[in-house]
Amino acid sequence: MFTDVLIIGTGISGLSFAIKLALNDPKISMVLISKDQVSEGNTKYAQGGIAVVSDFQKDSFQKHIKDTLIAGDGACDPEVVKFVVEEGKDRLEELINWGTQFDTQQENLHLVKEGGHSEKRVVHYKDHTGLHIQQALINKIKSFPNIKILENHTLVDLITDHHSSKKSNRCYGAYVISKEKESILKINAKITALCTGGNGSLYAHSTNPAIATGDGLGAAYRAKVHMDKLPYVQFHPTALFHQVNGNTFLITEAVRGAGAKLRNSLGERFMSKYDVRKELAPRDIVARAIQREIHKQKEKFVTLDCSDIDLETWEKRFPNIYETCLKLDINLPKDPIPVVPAAHYFCGGIQVNHKSESKLKGLYAIGECSSTGLHGANRLASNSLLEALVFSHRAALDVIIALKKTLPKKSFYEAIPEWIGDTYSNSVEIKEIRLLRLRLQEVMTNYLGIFKTTEGLKKADVEMFEIYKRVHEIYNQHKLTNGLCELRNMVSIAHLIIQQAQSITENKGVFYNQDYAK
Ligand SMILES: Cc1cc2nc3c(=O)[nH]c(=O)nc-3n(C[C@H](O)[C@H](O)[C@H](O)COP(=O)(O)OP(=O)(O)OC[C@H]3O[C@@H](n4cnc5c(N)ncnc54)[C@H](O)[C@@H]3O)c2cc1C
Repeated sequence: MFTDVLIIGTGISGLSFAIKLALNDPKISMVLISKDQVSEGNTKYAQGGIAVVSDFQKDSFQKHIKDTLIAGDGACDPEVVKFVVEEGKDRLEELINWGTQFDTQQENLHLVKEGGHSEKRVVHYKDHTGLHIQQALINKIKSFPNIKILENHTLVDLITDHHSSKKSNRCYGAYVISKEKESILKINAKITALCTGGNGSLYAHSTNPAIATGDGLGAAYRAKVHMDKLPYVQFHPTALFHQVNGNTFLITEAVRGAGAKLRNSLGERFMSKYDVRKELAPRDIVARAIQREIHKQKEKFVTLDCSDIDLETWEKRFPNIYETCLKLDINLPKDPIPVVPAAHYFCGGIQVNHKSESKLKGLYAIGECSSTGLHGANRLASNSLLEALVFSHRAALDVIIALKKTLPKKSFYEAIPEWIGDTYSNSVEIKEIRLLRLRLQEVMTNYLGIFKTTEGLKKADVEMFEIYKRVHEIYNQHKLTNGLCELRNMVSIAHLIIQQAQSITENKGVFYNQDYAK
């Protein structure tokens, strides 16, 4: 298969990037692949919304920039923060023009306040903003005939100089495995974009769907692309303690924005002991405070007291949370919601420039899998959908120029060999893959959670190496499957996180090593 642009991932980043390209030049051919159904990914689960300055009477770009820099704890790139905040409004308007609806109040966008924000500025659609955006983008993309979508196709490896006769430090597409046929396809492309989302499944409890296994990062790592800030893993303070259909369910920060209070098992409202902003302090502070209270009271969770939020607000603004809680016999607003922190967002990723291009020419990384400099050491709530929109726009403009430059000829791509690694016919037992995945998650959860120690990181290093050796052995002797691809990526990224975590000597944002605590 040969295409102008190969886009790996169909969340907000991949879809909006493709739409932008198609709107600029409908002749550009594109192949989009998604590991599961086109709708599955982190985007679909976003509840809170998008942080964009739109009420210029009360809010300003300056305030949003300041809030982002404070949350990022001195580790953001100020230039990136400035342009992302300033370009947000135009990107939001485009999203609305493409068919996304947001809640309004008296003909203006309804704005809410989330942790770390000094003003109400998060636009939303009830409490399932992401699902709504995802559906609108999928509808929009269907109108472009030059875009082909392959569902249930998983990226295995990027095609680089290593697979060709050239030495130009370029990416030439990717090898992809079809879930159904378990066969490996070569997709050559002039430009490749990784839009593969998050890595939450590295942890036992995560708000991300199970497919968030860091595949884009794993492939980029093997292609020797630089990755940074990986140990800055954001734990969302308030995930529902009970699992919903085997998954961790989020209670959006907007619920605290609407007035919910955190209480420990003694019924005490504890946040004022930790920060003057109380429940609306940035996520790292709230998550650590909750973890400390859980530990102190020897409990399994703390609770969100929602009694100050009336029933009408629950039904209108948070219908998803309201219904989910009701199914678990949590009757809102009367009953408190038991909550715990859960792995949520990776602030780091594939290092990219201001146009989302990585150091490997022709390879872009957009959205959650990238490290743009926006989030620093801690992402400000609702800034990630914003980042995806701004960077997919910038990347699209850059790619349009790049496609006009002299690129390798089609005959060059045709000479790149088909996948050669997969000559084994014996399948690895699914059970072993599952057990190794669980072991990996246990190591990450035990040693690379909210509180880390130097000794714990050393243990994690040793234990992860054992897992790595076994995964490598399996990979070298067995037929490649989807599960094996995921595990291979997970172990690579876990290893990288541990290595980078061991080299960090200062606590910042979400990174907290108890041995460096003042
Ligand atoms: C529960 C939850 C709530 C959130 N709430 C908010 C919020 O309110 N506001 C906010 O700004 N952010 C929020 N976030 C974060 C935000 O949703 C994500 O950062 C953003 O949606 C990521 O978009 P993306 O396009 O980069 O990746 P995703 O939406 O995760 O899409 C990833 C895509 O990559 C594909 N993919 C992955 N690996 C492969 C592979 N190997 N081969 C092929 N395809 C692959 C997947 O199939 C999927 O299509 C939330 C996240 C979660 C999990």
